[in-house]
Amino acid sequence: MSLESHTGNRGLVIEEPLIFEQGEPQRSAVDLPDVPDVPGRLGGLERQGTIGLPGLAEPECVRHYTRLSQKNFGIDSGFYPLGSCTMKHNPRLSEKAARLNGFANIHPLQPETTVQGALEAVSLLGQWLMDLTGMSAVAMSPAAGAHGELCGLMAIRAALEDKGDARQIVLVPESAHGTNPATAALCGYQVVSIPANEKGRVDVAALKAKLDGKVAALMLTNPNTCGLFESEILEIASAVKAAGAYFYCDGANFNAIVGRVKVADLGIDCMHINLHKTFSTPHGGGGPGAGPVVLSKRLKAYAPVPFVRQGEGGLELVEHGLGEAAKSFGRMKGFHGQFGVMIRALAYILSMGGNGLYQASSDAVLNANYLLARLSAELTPSFPGPCMHEALFDDRFLKDTGVTTLDFAKAMIDEGFHPMTMYFPLVVHGALLMEPTESESKQTLDIYVETLLSLARKAKAGGAAEDFKAAPRMTPRRRLDETRAARAPVLRWKQA
Ligand SMILES: *Cc1c(COP(=O)(O)O)cnc(C)c1O
Repeated sequence: MSLESHTGNRGLVIEEPLIFEQGEPQRSAVDLPDVPDVPGRLGGLERQGTIGLPGLAEPECVRHYTRLSQKNFGIDSGFYPLGSCTMKHNPRLSEKAARLNGFANIHPLQPETTVQGALEAVSLLGQWLMDLTGMSAVAMSPAAGAHGELCGLMAIRAALEDKGDARQIVLVPESAHGTNPATAALCGYQVVSIPANEKGRVDVAALKAKLDGKVAALMLTNPNTCGLFESEILEIASAVKAAGAYFYCDGANFNAIVGRVKVADLGIDCMHINLHKTFSTPHGGGGPGAGPVVLSKRLKAYAPVPFVRQGEGGLELVEHGLGEAAKSFGRMKGFHGQFGVMIRALAYILSMGGNGLYQASSDAVLNANYLLARLSAELTPSFPGPCMHEALFDDRFLKDTGVTTLDFAKAMIDEGFHPMTMYFPLVVHGALLMEPTESESKQTLDIYVETLLSLARKAKAGGAAEDFKAAPRMTPRRRLDETRAARAPVLRWKQA
C-alpha cells in the first residue's frame, strides 16, 4: 500500500502549512464596520502599506494552532524514553495547586505582608531540598539546571576570590552534559577534560594527575550520564578538597537517589536540582524549569540573593548584599525565580511525602534495570548492570548491518515510540540512552522492549538497511536536514 495521498495528509494527521501560506489578506476573524476615509484622521499616522498579517477566519486560526500543538510530542502523548531528561508524569494535582488564586495571581512587587503564604511555600520547598540533600543552604532563584550550574560556579569563584586565590581551571569528565563545559567557559574558566575508565566512571588516577593549585572546581554528574553511580566519589571529593578546589555536583539525575542518599555525605560543595526533572514539573517545550542550588557550609555565605528569612513581623526577603548577605555574589535572576514551578514541585513533594519519594526513586531505578536486562537480549549494553535511573546501549549490535543508531531511532517512530536520547553520552559509540522513570507501567515497558527487540532482530537478519533508512514513513515529514536547520534557519517568511 502506498503511503502517498492526494492531499498530502496521512489519515487525520493533517498537513499544516505556515499560517501565512494559508491566509488571504481579505479574510478576517472579525467584522469591523467600514470607516469613512477621512484624510489626516490619524494625524498622519496611517499605515502606508500592508503589514503582511495572515488573514484567517477564527475557525481556521483555532485549527492551525490546535494542529500545531498536536504535532508536539509530550509525556501526555506517550512514553518518552529520553535519557538524562527524566520525562516523568506531571501530576494534575500539582497543576491545580499552581493555579490557586493566591499563587497564580500575585505580583513580585506586592508588599511582603500580603504574600506571606508564597514566601512560606518557597521557604518550605527550600527546607525540603536541604533535608533531602543534607546541605546547609539553598539558592532558589536559578531558572534551570544550566543556570544552577552557573550559580554554583559563581559562588565558587566568589569564595576563591574572597581567599585571594584566583584559579583558572574547571575539570569536567568526558561524559558530562554539554552544559557543564559551557557553564565553566561562560564563567571564564578554562575547561580541562577528564577521561572515563572502562567501567563508565571517572578515571580517578587521571583526575588526580590534573588536580593542582590552578583548579577551581570539579564538575561531576552523579549518578553520571552513563546511568552509573560514581562509586569512587568519596575518594574524588577528598582529593578535590585536598587540592583546595571545590566540588560541584550536577544533580540533574537526582531522581535516581532522592530519599536514599544524602548528597552532603558525598563531600560535595554545591549541586543544582532540576525541579522539572526530579520533582515532576512540565518541561521540554511544556514549560519553564527551575534549578535551585544547594550549598555546603563553606559556600553558604556566597549564595545569591534573594533568600527568605524569618523576620520580626513574619517572613521577609533578603534582597541585597548587606549584613548576612554581605558576601553574596549578587543576583541570578529578576525577582525570585520560577515561582510557578516551585509550587508544582512543592505540591509533588508534599503529595509524595518522604516515603513516596523513596519509592519513586526505587521504582525509577527498577524500571531502568528492567530495560537494561531485557534489551540486553539483542542490544549491546555499554556497561554491565545494575544501572541507576537510565540504561545505556551502544551501536555494537548494529555492526555490519548497515543500520545506524539514527536509522534505528527513526524506525521506532513508525512503531509509535519517541526515540531515546541518541549519540549521548559521547564516551560510547552511537549511544542509545533511555530513562523510563517510575511513571511507566510494566505493560508499557514490555511493548517498548518487544518493539526494540524485533527491530534489532530485523536489522541483524541483514538486508534491511534500506528499509531502516526510509524510516520514518508515517510522519508528516521524513528526515530533516538537522544541520542545515541549525546553520541556515529560515526565520522570516517572504511572500512569493
Ligand atoms: C538536563 C541536564 C542538565 C541541564 O539542565 P537544564 O534544566 O536543561 O538546563 C545538566 N546536566 C544534566 C546531566 C542534565 O541531564
